[in-house]
Amino acid sequence: MKAAVVRAFSKDLSIETVADPNCPDNGVVLEVAACGVCRSDYHGWTGEHPKVQHGSVLGHEYCGTVVATGKRAKHKIGDRLIAPFILSCGDCPACHTGVSNTCAHQVVPGFGAPGAYAEYVAVPFDHNLVHLPDTMSPALAAGLGCRVTTAWHALTDRANVRAGEWVAVHGTGGIGLATLLLAKMLGARVVVVDVVDEKLAHATGLGADAAVNATTTDAADAIRNITGGGAHVSVEALGIAATTNASIDCLRILGRHVHVGMPAGSGMMEINMRGIYTKQLSFFGTRGMPAWKYPTLLEMIERGDVDLNPMVAREVPLSGASAELRAMHGPTPPGTAVITDLQN
Ligand SMILES: [Zn+2]
Ligand SMILES: [Zn+2]
Repeated sequence: MKAAVVRAFSKDLSIETVADPNCPDNGVVLEVAACGVCRSDYHGWTGEHPKVQHGSVLGHEYCGTVVATGKRAKHKIGDRLIAPFILSCGDCPACHTGVSNTCAHQVVPGFGAPGAYAEYVAVPFDHNLVHLPDTMSPALAAGLGCRVTTAWHALTDRANVRAGEWVAVHGTGGIGLATLLLAKMLGARVVVVDVVDEKLAHATGLGADAAVNATTTDAADAIRNITGGGAHVSVEALGIAATTNASIDCLRILGRHVHVGMPAGSGMMEINMRGIYTKQLSFFGTRGMPAWKYPTLLEMIERGDVDLNPMVAREVPLSGASAELRAMHGPTPPGTAVITDLQN
């Protein structure tokens, strides 16, 4: 099969013919229909993620059709499925208590196992996979496994956002846009922060109540003014110190910071602990979403409660993934890219 392989960090992925994946006994092989290009992939591609090495194949947000099944697979050949990026074991204390996104035995294709920047991907623990609704395009579905589910879990099970509250979103990449659209659906008011005017205009067009450019203004100051004292909830979607501190500083007393952006490198950063202490803030880490929350989220999308299509800006071939990763060195245009042609 064709796959895009990391041969050198920060260099173009090598498009190669590699062996087809073996089917796991406890899962399936999917023919990949679409795979999102995510900022987490960028961290792997630049060598800042411990589980991405030379020879790795990226790609953790994908959907596709089952072409092979293991003896203990839950799905059958021909099923069209979406995968959450965290494949949990289903049989450990975390899985038994509903927090399978913290499973100690989890497998994440693209980070430690071959990912879906390829024609086929092996997916163990296929009980995590859900059926792709007929009304949903593979390009949109691919983004659900990572950004949309992560944003949904951050808002609902971590920050517990309530209608009427102000939500600040730092960074309007894939996670940021998903957070904006889902927070609006929940009845919150949303202020978005970015450093690219075009992305802010895009977010405003998608319903953001206010937009702040952090290169020309003090973002935290501006948010405190816009929200009359600070946001109730602030979502950090980049994983860097500047936006983490802006998030802490923009919150009102007893506000809730949710850390969604994956911190790169060692993860160490200098943050304003006095702000957390004085304002008695809550500080949530979050990653992924337990697979059991998929059906209700999918139903809301299918019913049209929220339109996530604007998140997908570009459909690219496999050979176009390198350019998308390279573009993340600097400010990127609005929306995210999805690989929808895995043969070219
Ligand atoms: Zn992702
Ligand atoms: Zn488990």
